[in-house]
This record gives sequence, structure tokens and C-alpha cells, in this order.
Amino acid sequence: MTHENLPGQPHLAYRGNELYCEEIRVSDLAKDHGTPLFVYSKGAMLAALAAYQRGFAGRKVQICYAMKANPALGVIEVFAEAGCGFDIVSGGDLERVLAAGGQPGKIIFSGVGKTRAEMRRALEAGIGCFNVESEAELEVLSQVALSLGVCAPVSIRVNPNVDPKTHPYISTGLKDSKFGVAHERVLPTYQRAAKLAGIRVLGIDCHIGSQITQEDPYLDAVERMLDLVEAIEAVGIPLQHIDFGGGLGIDYSGETPPDAGVLWQKLLARLDARGFGQRDLMIEPGRSLVGNAGVCVSEVLYLKPGEHKNFCIIDAAMNDLPRPALYQAFHQIVPLNPRQDVPETWDVVGPICESGDWLGHDRSLAVQQGDLLAVLSSGAYCMSMASNYNSRGRAAEILVEGSQAHLIRRRETMADQMQSERLVGIKSK
Ligand SMILES: *Cc1c(COP(=O)(O)O)cnc(C)c1O
Repeated sequence: MTHENLPGQPHLAYRGNELYCEEIRVSDLAKDHGTPLFVYSKGAMLAALAAYQRGFAGRKVQICYAMKANPALGVIEVFAEAGCGFDIVSGGDLERVLAAGGQPGKIIFSGVGKTRAEMRRALEAGIGCFNVESEAELEVLSQVALSLGVCAPVSIRVNPNVDPKTHPYISTGLKDSKFGVAHERVLPTYQRAAKLAGIRVLGIDCHIGSQITQEDPYLDAVERMLDLVEAIEAVGIPLQHIDFGGGLGIDYSGETPPDAGVLWQKLLARLDARGFGQRDLMIEPGRSLVGNAGVCVSEVLYLKPGEHKNFCIIDAAMNDLPRPALYQAFHQIVPLNPRQDVPETWDVVGPICESGDWLGHDRSLAVQQGDLLAVLSSGAYCMSMASNYNSRGRAAEILVEGSQAHLIRRRETMADQMQSERLVGIKSK
């Protein structure tokens, strides 16, 4: 198995009996830093970004990394260096981008529940745009901006209401979703925004969902967005930019999402056909930039064969990798050092006291106690949703760059976990 690549994981390959991430032996990282351990490939992130850049070649586009997928400072830094902007969803996200050297002017602020304090901080920092999600939010933003004596740059997030019958997997662009302004309220909202003091209308945005593996929903949403742009501009409100959100899926288990470059060429053809090809464009990809750039390395603690089920208990758990427990999501699980033994069927589970704490059901693996496994496609929505459940410290994170390994987050200690807590001093009498 020399130089055998894993499907969907261009940065990972077996060389002989060793799994490599770029030029580094993953088992060496586990020895040096312990497990569970997240390992990210910088090359894979930049390659994913390049696919988007190819699709937009020659256009005016700002790619804003949706950092909730993976908000590690070391990951933000990679995208900031590459010239990306950032899609943030909280004041905390904002502080991370600023701390990692991102440019405030390239930050867009999404989310249905921005607080006044978050708005104030974002205005003071000079962010590029607020993606406003309701009429009520617009009023509050106007008040906050006026209180600071500034003008808030605004885009209205519209709900394109892409037909659920044809595209049932779309979760955020449906009529009854909490996100965005309903189609029929879009025009009145823009008219209100155009009149409001402290508000400057910049653009329009949408985000139709996540892990989208077909191009049709995007193409439908684009047409609906352009209908809205025409209607808004017809009443005398010019829009500088059009933002199509994120949501492009990745290959977890043989899915074949459209290539970012190809998808955007098709979308741009639609824009050109309707005369919008030279507009400022924005997109907000998250998962598709980082999801397949990361793995979570874990050690097999115990094997527990049973009458009906065999359990392979590993030291990573639902607090590190919440997607299986949350969405019954599938992650490939592979050995760092494959054995030639006959594989058996295992339920790969974590140590947490919950039946929902599983990483993979019915996996065919040749494993022994002490082996190291890699849970693939763990770069997005894993560490960002990690918790301290069962008083487990959060894992360490490594960014691999060729033959260099940078520790971008050390393992969380018990002191870290307890530092914000206090005993009340109750003594037994
Ligand atoms: C989560 C989110 C994204 C990114 O979605 P992905 O599926 O990770 O690409 C983009 N925009 C908004 C508003 C989001 O909430």
C-alpha cells in the first residue's frame, strides 16, 4: 500500500504501513502530543480555497470563511493570510478574527440573535457588513449605530424559500426556518432600511443550508436572489454586492458534491445571462474549506467483544466529535497502521456515559488494544462543537504544513476547566 490515497482526503496517504498527513507520520504526532488529537492539513485547506478561487477567476469576489466550522486561531490565520474575509456569528467569533490578524473590513456578521453589545463592538471594529436577519434586528442596529454616531453597513439575509419538495435536504432556506427575512417581507424591509438613519444598504445575502451535495438548490436560489435584486433596485435601492452564502457539502462517505470551481462557473453563467456578472460577489463557505482537511486521532483503549455486538472503545468521544451523536453523521474510521489480520465488525464508541456516545456503527476493522485510529473528515463542526462533558478536557490541535507540525492549541488541562469556578465554602457541620 505505497502512496495509497484515501478517497476524498488528498492530503492523507498510506506510505507503507503508515498514514501520513502531508509529509508527516500521523502516529508520530500522536506519540508527541497524545490522543485524542486533531490534525489539520494547511495544504488541504488552501487547495479547497483554490477550487473556489478558480471558479471565480476574473471576477470581483470576496470569499468569507464561515469560521464557525472551525474557529481555531491557527486556522483563521491560514485563511486571513490567504486574503479571505470571515463570516462570523457572534462577538466571540469577532474577537477571534481580530486576534488572528483578520481584516475587520472583510468581516460579515450573520446570525439571528445579535445583541446590542455585539453590534457595538462590531461597529467599533469597523466590520464590512451586517447580514441582518429580521426587521426587528434592523431597528436595533440603527439605534446602536446612531448612539455611536456611525452608519452600519447592511445586507438583508433573504429566505429564498427553495422548494422543499424538490430539495428536501435544504434546512435553512425554507419558508418556516428561523433564518432570514421571508420572501414577501424582503421588499418592505429594504424600503425601511433605506430610510433608517444609521443604516447604509450595501447588499443582499442568503444561505440555504449545509452539506448540500447537489447543484440544483444553488441554481434555484441564485435565480430567486436575482429576482429579488431586480425588484429591490426597481424601487430605487441599489445593491453593491450579492452574497450566496455557504453550504457546499463534502465527501464523508462517497457523497459526490459538486466541485466548488465547477459549481461557481455554472452560477456565474446564470449571473452573466441576467446581466449581474460584474457585481461584487461574496460567498461564505465553511465545511467545504476545512472539513476534509482534518482528522481526529484516537487510541483504542479496550476491545469488548459481545454476543451480538463488538465494541471498540476509543479515547475520543462525543464531546470531541459530536456529529454522530447529534446528526447520526458518518465519519470514516481508519487505522494509522493497518494490520493484515482478518477484520471484524466493531461499534466504535467513546468512554462517555451515554449510549449516544458512538463514533461509528458496524465498522469492519482489524484492530487491537493500543492501536491508533483516525476519524476522518473531522476538520469542520467537530472541535467547534466540542465540550467538557464528563469533565473531559478538549483535545489538542496540530496544523501540518509540509514536514512541519505546529501545535495550534495545547490540550486543555483540568486547571483550564476549573479556573472559572468557585467553591462556596460549605463545610460539613
Ligand atoms: C454556517 C453558515 C455558513 C457556512 O456553512 P457551511 O455549510 O459550513 O459551508 C455560511 N453562512 C452562514 C450564515 C452560516 O450560518
